[in-house]
Amino acid sequence: MNEIKLAVLGTEGVGKSECIYKKRLSIDGRQINLEIFDPCSQNLENKSSLTDQMNWADGFVVVYDIGDRSSFVSAKSLLRQLQEVHSEICKRDGMSVIYLVGNKQDLCHVREVSKEEGLLLAGEHKCHFCELSAAEDRQEVGTMFSKAIRNASGNRRRRPSGSKSMAKLINNVFGKRRKSV
Ligand code: GDP
Ligand code: MG
Repeated sequence: MNEIKLAVLGTEGVGKSECIYKKRLSIDGRQINLEIFDPCSQNLENKSSLTDQMNWADGFVVVYDIGDRSSFVSAKSLLRQLQEVHSEICKRDGMSVIYLVGNKQDLCHVREVSKEEGLLLAGEHKCHFCELSAAEDRQEVGTMFSKAIRNASGNRRRRPSGSKSMAKLINNVFGKRRKSV
């Protein structure tokens, strides 16, 4: 059974809770145990917590709000950090494991970040990009996740089991509030 772990790093909200969602699904005829980690966005400011997430995840979805320039600026800095710390894993066989997502496309009348800027940023970091509305288009969200899972499944690297940072991560993830679906 393949295990795929995705970390969804949102820079749009003030999320104070973190969750792990677990789901068994089939992609391209392969059974996959998917785990999606939705960390508390406040914790993203903490560098060691971000490093722990990078050690845990096979792939990343970095989400900003197209109606909020500051969330785009945060996404930019997240992408930089992801690539600084883990440049060797962020790209395998020319395939990035990072998906940059401009959310709240339904609110494009109050847009502060153009689609071109999103595309440009994704191009700079050689990662995938799309704009969508999590609130109004579930299909787009599903398509994005399917692609993110496929990209991440090409990144089945060995994790440093038993390392100090892994122990800390397990504590972070499982020691706190969590939900399963
Ligand atoms: P978090 O704080 O980063 O976890 O972000 P949330 O998932 O809590 O979302 C923050 C706020 O944005 C919530 O009020 C959501 O309802 C809202 N939101 C999320 N996605 C969309 C979207 O696609 N369109 C609109 N209009 N609102 C959204
Ligand atoms: Mg949240």
